[in-house]
Amino acid sequence: MIPVEIKKSGPCELTVFWDDGHKSVFVIKYLRSECRCAGCVNEITGERMLDPQSIPEDITITAAEHVGRYGIRFSFSDTHSDGIYTWHRLRELCPCPQCRADLPSRVN
Ligand SMILES: [Zn+2]
Ligand SMILES: [Zn+2]
Repeated sequence: MIPVEIKKSGPCELTVFWDDGHKSVFVIKYLRSECRCAGCVNEITGERMLDPQSIPEDITITAAEHVGRYGIRFSFSDTHSDGIYTWHRLRELCPCPQCRADLPSRVN
């Protein structure tokens, strides 16, 4: 699955349109809290070191950059820009009821 369009649909909201016609609407704070970079998640234990409470409610995305053909890197307004979100993961994170229902119970 590949996004055909990614756009900011509100001050704190990002919408991704997929090539299969699906649409994902993300609250940017949620995307930020799911960052898997070495600064946010311990590479060895997989433990999340980022406290979601510490993320400002009004966090937004200031820039986005394609990473190869497989993903995207967001720069967030809290100056964090290390997280790469692959298309696969972005789709996995889709918060819509349909995707939540399809998902096997998630580890961690
Ligand atoms: Zn991170
Ligand atoms: Zn979905």
